[in-house]
Order: sequence, then C-alpha cells, then structure tokens
Amino acid sequence: MKISRRKFLLTTGAGVVTAPGIAGLIMGERGVEANSIRNTSLWSTQVPSLPQLPRFEGERKVDLVIVGGGYTGLACAYYAKKFRPDWSVVMLESHTIGSGASSRNSGAVSAKYQGLADTEMPQRGFDRLSQFIETEDIDCDFHPTTLLELLTSKDAAQSVNSDPVRHQKWISADALKESIGTDFYAGAIEKNDNYTVHPAKLVVGHAQAALDVGAELFEHSPALDIMPGKPVEISTPGGKIRADHVCIATNAYTPRLGMFKSSMYPLHQYSLATRKLTHQEIATFGLDKWNLRFEEHTLPVTFSMTPSGHFFIRIVLGYAGLDSSTWPDLAAARRLAARLFERRYPGISDIGLEHGWSGVTGHTLLGKPIAGPIGDGNIHVSVAYNGSGIMPSHNNGYLTACQITGHSDRDTKFLTGTSGQILVPSGYYRNLLLKPGLSLLSPT
Ligand SMILES: Cc1cc2nc3c(=O)[nH]c(=O)nc-3n(C[C@H](O)[C@H](O)[C@H](O)COP(=O)(O)OP(=O)(O)OC[C@H]3O[C@@H](n4cnc5c(N)ncnc54)[C@H](O)[C@@H]3O)c2cc1C
Repeated sequence: MKISRRKFLLTTGAGVVTAPGIAGLIMGERGVEANSIRNTSLWSTQVPSLPQLPRFEGERKVDLVIVGGGYTGLACAYYAKKFRPDWSVVMLESHTIGSGASSRNSGAVSAKYQGLADTEMPQRGFDRLSQFIETEDIDCDFHPTTLLELLTSKDAAQSVNSDPVRHQKWISADALKESIGTDFYAGAIEKNDNYTVHPAKLVVGHAQAALDVGAELFEHSPALDIMPGKPVEISTPGGKIRADHVCIATNAYTPRLGMFKSSMYPLHQYSLATRKLTHQEIATFGLDKWNLRFEEHTLPVTFSMTPSGHFFIRIVLGYAGLDSSTWPDLAAARRLAARLFERRYPGISDIGLEHGWSGVTGHTLLGKPIAGPIGDGNIHVSVAYNGSGIMPSHNNGYLTACQITGHSDRDTKFLTGTSGQILVPSGYYRNLLLKPGLSLLSPT
C-alpha cells in the first residue's frame, strides 16, 4: 500500500511540523542545515584528505540511496555492496564525509550499546568492528586501554568502598593526587574493557572501504526532501534520485530533516585540547597509565589523550533550540570547557588550550537507538546512539545493510524502529523542557 506524504510524516514522529524541503532551508529554522559551516576537529587535521568526491547532479534511478556519510552510512554502503555487488549504491552527504559526530568524538570504544545492556549482541557488534578494521587493514590506532571512572562525590566513593568487587579496582583520592595531578576527585575505579580509536582515521578507513567495493559517495549533496513510495524519491540541490531502498543515517541531524521529531533530540558537545604534551607532562598527568577518563555525571565529562599526545576534555553543552545542529555561542562553550578543565587539572592553565571543536549527538529519552524499517518498509533508519555510538553505528550500518539486501543475521531482530521509545515534546515545549532542564544537570 502506498502511504501518503502526511501519513509518512506521522509514522516517523514528525507530527504536524512543516515538511522538510527547500523552503525550510531558506527560512533557516527548519530543514536541513546544509549550508552551515562546521569547525574542524583536531582529529580531522591529522588525517590525509580523501580523494575529492563529487556533488550529486542530474536524475538517477538506483537500488539503494544512503542519506548521511558518517560511520552508519559508510558501513551500510560497504556491507550492502558486499552483499549485492550488482546493486547501484549511492551515498549522499550534506557536508563532507565524516564531518558529523564521526570525526568529532572522543574515540572511546567498548562492547556496549546504550539501551541494550543484557544481550550478547553488543559483543558481536564489537567483534564485527574489530574484524572490519583488521580485514580492511585500517590504520586507526585501535588499541585496548584502561579506563578511569572518576567519582566526584564522597558518597559515591563510600559506596564503592563497601562493595568488595568494585573495591578491587579502587584508586583512592590520595593515590590519584599523586599519580594524575589533581585533588578534584573522591576516588576512581579502573575498568579494563575499553579501547581507543582515532575517529577521523576510522572515517577515512570506512570511506576508502566503501569506495573500494564500488559504492558511489557524493559530498555537498544534502537530501532536502524524501518522498516515500516505490521507488522513493529524494530531492537534492543538484537533482532528483529515485531509489528502491533508502537508508537514513543522519543521526543528530534527523529532526532537522523533519523526521522523528517526537522521539529524538540533538545534544551539543564541546571538546578542547592542549597542545602536544611533552613526555614529562604526560607523566605528570598520569596519561601514560590512564589515557581515558570518564566522570560519573548525568551530563558526563570525558577526558582523553590523542595518540599524538594532546590531552582533551569533552563536555555536554545542552540543547540549542529548534533542533538546531549549530550551537549559538561557541566562544562561551570554549570558555566553559576551559574552566572545567582547569578546575580539575590546575596545571593545564600553564600549558594552554589550543584546539576546540563542537559536535552534536542524537538522543532518545530511554537511551535506545531508533533503527529499523519505516513507512512502506523500503525506508530504513538508524540514528540516535545516545552519545556512545562508534561501534553501534558501524554495527547498525551492517545490520541495516543485511535487512535491506535480505542477508540473514540473527541480530536484525534488534532493529525495531520506534517501538519502546517514549515521546519527547517537540517545538516550543521541547525548548521549555530541555534547555533549562539540562543546564541544571550540567557539571561545574
Ligand atoms: C563530542 C562527541 C564525543 C563522542 N564520543 C564518543 C565516544 O567516545 N565513543 C562513542 O562510542 N561514541 C562517541 N560519540 C558518538 C559517536 O561519534 C556517534 O554515535 C557516531 O559517530 C554516529 O555516527 P553516524 O554515522 O550515525 O552519525 P554522524 O557521524 O553524525 O553522521 C551523520 C551524517 O549525516 C549528514 N547529514 C545530515 N543531514 C543530512 C542530509 N539532509 N542529507 C545528507 N546528509 C546529511 C551529516 O552531515 C553527517 O555527516 C561522540 C560524539 C560526539 C559529538
């Protein structure tokens, strides 16, 4: 059955908002933020650029269109082409490949999926990403590491001390002061099930692998409108493309596309890095022992050191209004990140903070991704990894490719669309709820 445009928007949670499209883009309030300028992450300055990729021009009919060129979209393109070499697979990216969260994240990888804690599927997803990196011979600094989970309150520290299992990995406040150069924390727990990766190198590896199997990648080619049907019709500034199957992999930018406005929302992040540290400075901050650190907070603060020796903080800024993917005051965000960094590591102020970049992640109220077929079943979506999506985005790209091409995998059962999601108010009420609510939860 062919569903109407109106019914499609309701199915995807778009409610009564204006349909996305060129009008929205020109108005600048709704519609894709195709013309926004994104600052460059430190990671992106450290990778060789990809071969120049074209803009999409003209009229085409293809088997599969993927909207969004981060890990999800690129993994979907790669696996779809592997399963169906005879298919024409086209990926449309509104800006440049990987210029969303995929090249801006903190590079912490583990066998965890937000919202899917008690299954073995996350471990299979982790193994799949590891195998992909190995098979495609991707040089992306993918290494095991010991994570420090830092506790800021004495109560939390006491509860660890009374738990014999967690206490085995306990590091006291005094020991931390000695070994990482701060007395800010009440203690910490060591965790050994984490890896780190260079996010932008991983993007380049994904893109190269997708190109090698014959997927066509287009940059500066935003999908402005997606009209459901058989085939689905996608409008871009350079022309129209019709596709038998579509994968929407636009993560935090999805509500701007007019979709899932009632189920997900974007959250803004800011990262700020030091210059390259000397060996002596690395030892002073204990980064040679623990290069990855998370604070336990509702809006978490993360620290990491890049393989090139830059120590950085990542903070959550909050919700910007109108589902925007651009934060209104980046100078203030930088000042806040510097203040939080220096409060925790006073020695940082002598070293100086050089490179700041923003980022945006897609969230749902219960923390579970939105992934699966929608509409007539020929449009598939995989978005909203709730801030922790390096491995899940790769794995969901794979599972979505399985579902679209008919390749069998037991884990496609986890792609359940919007089922199990709680509705989040949209529009004016979203601003009212999320803006002040999140600022109250911000760390100091
Ligand atoms: C600061 C920060 C730190 C993070 N740290 C971690 C971490 O340590 N560990 C972890 O596991 N995860 C982390 N994440 C999350 C992780 O980066 C994401 O979950 C993951 O990159 C999502 O990949 P994606 O391909 O789904 O989305 P994205 O990489 O955001 O890609 C979506 C793409 O869609 C494009 N797009 C949007 N609209 C359109 C349109 N209309 N037409 C065409 N293209 C469009 C965008 O330009 C973008 O390139 C972090 C994220 C941020 C921002």
